[in-house]
Amino acid sequence: MYTIWSGSVGDPVWIRPNWPLHEVRGLFSFRRGGVSLPPYEELNVGLHVGDDADAVLKNRERCAIEVGCPVERWVVAEQVHGAKVAVITEAEAGCGARDVHSAIQGADALVTDVSGLGLVVMAADCVPVLFYDGVRQVIGAAHSGWKGTVQHIVRRVLETMQQAFQSNPADVQVWIGPSIRQCCYEVNDVVADPIKAEFGRRVLVKRFHRAERYLLSLQACVRQDLLRSGVRPEHIVDTGVCTSCQADVLFSHRADAGRTGRQLAMVCLVEDEV
Ligand SMILES: [Zn+2]
Repeated sequence: MYTIWSGSVGDPVWIRPNWPLHEVRGLFSFRRGGVSLPPYEELNVGLHVGDDADAVLKNRERCAIEVGCPVERWVVAEQVHGAKVAVITEAEAGCGARDVHSAIQGADALVTDVSGLGLVVMAADCVPVLFYDGVRQVIGAAHSGWKGTVQHIVRRVLETMQQAFQSNPADVQVWIGPSIRQCCYEVNDVVADPIKAEFGRRVLVKRFHRAERYLLSLQACVRQDLLRSGVRPEHIVDTGVCTSCQADVLFSHRADAGRTGRQLAMVCLVEDEV
């Protein structure tokens, strides 16, 4: 486990990838420090979960300041638990930034080489994953729930980075964000069977005395895909934070019984100073 926290008790808490700040900014938000009311307290960034839109936009502004990328430059994935990766150009700047409808349709992952665009995915248990190729200056963000994981979304991100921008996976650095972990993520055969078929049994632990119940490590699946795609093990950082264990500081769909907010994972290439 390797976690960089910034902020102190009572203040907003963030995790930032330790990438060179003059080249790229990454951010994983928590639930502290925003203006949303229960059950979305406090820093909900999801416009699609029933929260007051004005509060959500204030929260997004808060995150925008933190990452140094104005909301107008955000690009947000629609997120449909699929495995579509969208290549983002300047034309998509602001898509999904202030409304749900203009989000990048059907996409659960985004990649770009355009500096100054903030690629955004949101989660509240699903695995947010950020990518940075410091050689080609290419970034990516993926939302990997169990369905997207089974469809190898992180592998598809790397394939897209290769095809669109000639990225070499050996150059790509990856951060796995706060998400529900094996300690808390009980699944049944509906989930376990396709996971086993794609990733083998080692990512699952069978629950003692509970028939057809398993504890799943989505993070182990993601790591397996990354390694098989050619990402170096030393370039993979798992924040190690479980949303369900830490539901006081993070939104957790399971721990909060479905009605809750979303935290964001965001990455942005820094624009060259003119
Ligand atoms: Zn846990």
